[in-house]
Order: sequence, then C-alpha cells, then structure tokens
Amino acid sequence: MSDQLVCATCHAAYPLYKPRWRCACGGLLDLQFTPRFDLGAIASRPPTLWRYREALPLPAEARPVTLGEGFTPIIEITIAGRTVHVKQEQLAPSGSYKDRGATLLISAARAMGVADVVEDSSGNAGAAIAAYAAAAAINCEIFVPANTSPEKVAQVRAYGAAINLVPGSRQDTARAVWEAAQTRYYASHVWNPLFFQGTKTFAYEVCEQLGWRGPDAVLLPVGNGTLLLGAYLGFRDLLGAGLIDHLPRLFAVQAQRCAPLAQAARLNADQPAAIVSQPTWAEGIAIATPIRGDQCLRAVRDSGGAWLMVSEDQIAQAWSELAGRGYYVEPTSAATIAALPHLPSDAGTCVTALTGHGLKSTAKNITMLKEPI
Ligand SMILES: *Cc1c(COP(=O)(O)O)cnc(C)c1O
Ligand SMILES: [Zn+2]
Repeated sequence: MSDQLVCATCHAAYPLYKPRWRCACGGLLDLQFTPRFDLGAIASRPPTLWRYREALPLPAEARPVTLGEGFTPIIEITIAGRTVHVKQEQLAPSGSYKDRGATLLISAARAMGVADVVEDSSGNAGAAIAAYAAAAAINCEIFVPANTSPEKVAQVRAYGAAINLVPGSRQDTARAVWEAAQTRYYASHVWNPLFFQGTKTFAYEVCEQLGWRGPDAVLLPVGNGTLLLGAYLGFRDLLGAGLIDHLPRLFAVQAQRCAPLAQAARLNADQPAAIVSQPTWAEGIAIATPIRGDQCLRAVRDSGGAWLMVSEDQIAQAWSELAGRGYYVEPTSAATIAALPHLPSDAGTCVTALTGHGLKSTAKNITMLKEPI
C-alpha cells in the first residue's frame, strides 16, 4: 500500500506531501502510510513522541517542529472503586494532548513549505496549533467564537498568532475559517488527516509504557474524536506490526447534555444523532455535529467497546475528587473519570487520560467550585 491521501467518499488518491486537507469532491481525506517500529532504536531515543519517527509520516529529510511533547507519565490511580492507568496528557507543552496532533501537522506543513496556516477551535486545538506555528515561525490565525474563555484567547495571543473573534455560533466560526482556508493552509484538527497521525502516538506510548503490551480497555472523552480516532489508528498500527495481539476495547465518553454519538449508538445508527445541545461543564467535548462522527462510531464498534454518558453532577463530582487528590484538570477531563462506574466490571486492564490542564479554565473552575455539587 503506497503512502497517500485517500478520500473517504469517492476514494480519489492524492500524494502525501502536498498541502491538501480535503478532496476535490469535498470529502474527508484519510492518510495511508505504513508505519515501522524498531524497538531498539525507539528505546534509545529521548522521551518524546518523535521516538517513533519511522511510524510518523514526515519526509525523511525533514526536521520535526518539537517542544518536547509526548511520553507523558502513566499513573495508576484507584478511584470510584476501580484501579486505572491514567495518562497525564495535561502535562503537554500547551496544556493538552492536542500538542500530539499539532507537532506532526506543523512539522509536515513546514516541510511542505507552507507559510501561513488557519485553524478554528473553541480552545485547546487553537492553542496547540498556535504554539507549534510559533516554534516553526509559520504565520498563524486562529478563529474562535467571540465567547471563548479569556484564558485560551490569551494563550493563543501570547504565542503571537492573530486571533479572529467571530460573533455568533461555533458554526459561524467554522464558516469564517472556511473562507480563509480557500487561500491559506487549513491546519484543522478535524479535517486534516495529519493531525490524527500525531494523536495516534497516544496508543504507541500506552503500549510501550505497559511493556509493549496492549491494555484490555481504553476510556476516552469524545467530541470530534481526535483522541479516540488517533488511539484507534495507533492500536491498529501496533496490531498490524504484530506488537499487540488484539485491539483494546474502546470506551467513549460523552456528556449527556451533548451526546450525538452516544445517542446514535443507542439507536444502532451509523451517523451522529440530530440533537439539541445544551451547555455542559465538559465544553471541550461539546460538539453537536462531529464531522468524523461515523468514523468514531465504527471505531468503537469494531473494538467491541461501548459509548457511555455522564451527567453534569457526575462530571463535577469527578472533577472535585481529582482535585482533592492533587490532579488539577479542566472540567472536560473529569468526564472520563466520571464514567468509571459505568465501565463493565470485566473490562480488565484499563487506560484513560487526563486531557487538559486545570490552569486553562480558571474562571470556569471557580464557578464550578461555587455551585453546590
Ligand atoms: C479536544 C479535547 C478533548 C477531546 O475532544 P475531541 O473533540 O474528541 O477531539 C478532550 N479533552 C480536552 C481537554 C480537549 O481539549
Ligand atoms: Zn472525494
């Protein structure tokens, strides 16, 4: 199988290292690439995700744009009566696991000679792209809804990116960036398949850190599925390379108040359910119309996993419980821990993640503390 981009709708193929984020037919592109793993070389390299260099699509002569991301610690925690391995993704350079996708995408963009990127986000993806664009000296403009939390806007500005505060809904922001993406490279964490080639390293690290063994279950928060789909890709790579002998079951968590995929799974549907989204503490996964929703549903089904939903009270309780043990995360990151009691009792060795740092959402944390839980 040659290295290329392939349209999920019409199956048209495009060369891998040409700036393109969407098929001419408008379809989503997926990236075909055969990863290689040399366990000796991997073990001899510094503890960043670039230790898996031969498994990451980037021209051989290109230098990665890196801030030392990846290889986050895994800590065993017993919480809600369950012992789980928790990967500390909140310790990433920009404060969320989105750095995995950003380092790969921006490295490839620089190698392709891209000088300007645009991205839209309600927070962490924009901050991660802005951080790596700064490190690569690439011009960057981030489009965000005008009501985005001030901490995240400040972080994007600090990295030197232009910020475009778009009045109206998240949909209005998407429309505005779409126009900008006609003339500049769209460093989208949802559309651009390179982003998922970075987030897949989550799976590689989990296996390496467990002694090149796959876990039985992986529990992840899902909005657009950038971590879920990345993990799925990564475990499939490891399976293909013979480094694990079965896919872990993927358990995907959504907030009850915005759960188009968990609702679809209940109805056995293969597309996101049409929902009316309500505000939730888990703002990072509040995505009413996930573009790769069908892929998320397929990944969970293929792995033999399930969709779980958590209430606002459960999220707030889990957040407090974590903070009370010294883990300061954004409310979104508490959703997975809130779902632990719903995990089947035969789930076996389970890995989950804390996805975003608590310092990213100071104002929101204070509100949550004030309200009775
Ligand atoms: C992006 C993000 C997630 C997962 O979101 P997806 O939309 O599924 O990619 C979870 N937690 C945090 C803190 C995030 O920034
Ligand atoms: Zn197409």
